[in-house]
Amino acid sequence: MHAVTFQAAGEVAVEERPEPELRAPDEAIVRVEASGICGSDLHIYHGRVPVEQGFTIGHEFVGTVLAAGPAVERVAVGDRVLGCFHTACGTCVACLRGDYHRCRRGRTFGHGSKLGDLPGAQAEQLLVPSANLVLRRVPDGMAADVALFAGDVMGTGYHAVAHAGVRAGDAVAVLGLGPVGLCAVQAARAAGAAQVFAIDTVEERLAMAARFGATPLHLTEEDPKRAVRGATDGGVDVAVDAVGDPGPLELAISLARDAGVVSGIGAYAGRGEVPLGLAWLKGLSLRLGLANVIAHVDRVLALMQAGLLDPAPLVSRHMKLADAAEAYAIYDRREALKIVLEP
Ligand code: ZN
Ligand code: ZN
Repeated sequence: MHAVTFQAAGEVAVEERPEPELRAPDEAIVRVEASGICGSDLHIYHGRVPVEQGFTIGHEFVGTVLAAGPAVERVAVGDRVLGCFHTACGTCVACLRGDYHRCRRGRTFGHGSKLGDLPGAQAEQLLVPSANLVLRRVPDGMAADVALFAGDVMGTGYHAVAHAGVRAGDAVAVLGLGPVGLCAVQAARAAGAAQVFAIDTVEERLAMAARFGATPLHLTEEDPKRAVRGATDGGVDVAVDAVGDPGPLELAISLARDAGVVSGIGAYAGRGEVPLGLAWLKGLSLRLGLANVIAHVDRVLALMQAGLLDPAPLVSRHMKLADAAEAYAIYDRREALKIVLEP
């Protein structure tokens, strides 16, 4: 079968790989119908996340179950399914708490040996361990390119809002309007946020956030702090940093009201300076970390099926799996919000 593999920084290839085989009773094999290229794939593409040369990448997928072990109960051969981007064991102490994103035996698709040695979804077929936890049936009538958001990007945008406890009537700010930020805007509206301020520097992304019901604010050409303070009583209830850098985190801290919540969903790395004194003085709660998509995926699918969340406008292009090298180059130039690869 054909699979997209990492070769070197800035280089992926489509190579021939053996078809997967079932090795454990809780595994399934999925024939992939559509897979997404994600912002986290770019970290691999640039060599910032180390992956072995020749390793199959990709972690967002929709397809059909080709085979399933005897312990797979929640999906069956022939079912159209979508996957979460990582696996969980269901029995470790983190899983028993429901913190599947912190599973001690969790493995991430397409991220090399350091994250579980699980070949990725940008391929014609995919081996899925812990299929009862990882896979869900695609609701009737839902397009593949929409469904694949539930197990990663939309699940992450939803998490940013749910984990922060957004309530109906709240004011929310979202900093950074990449796919996750735009999904967070939708999730905030779906949670009943009365006002959503969407902050970025890219006009098209600001326009899309406005389409989703947000008030767009240009980071440098406008004064987001003044605009938010002028429109709220002392700041937003929840400020979401969907970038994952100290700069936006600092802005989020300054936009949040007293005793508000700052939700950091972007992937922070290393150390950074933030105004701790201000955060303390305001009595803020900080909610950080990777999204618990396995815990959220059924709610996210229900919201998508009801039309309350709709990632369809984020799909910029469909390309052939064979053209993955070109697709990565386009995505790297930020010319697309989401590229969907099809075999
Ligand atoms: Zn992703
Ligand atoms: Zn576990």
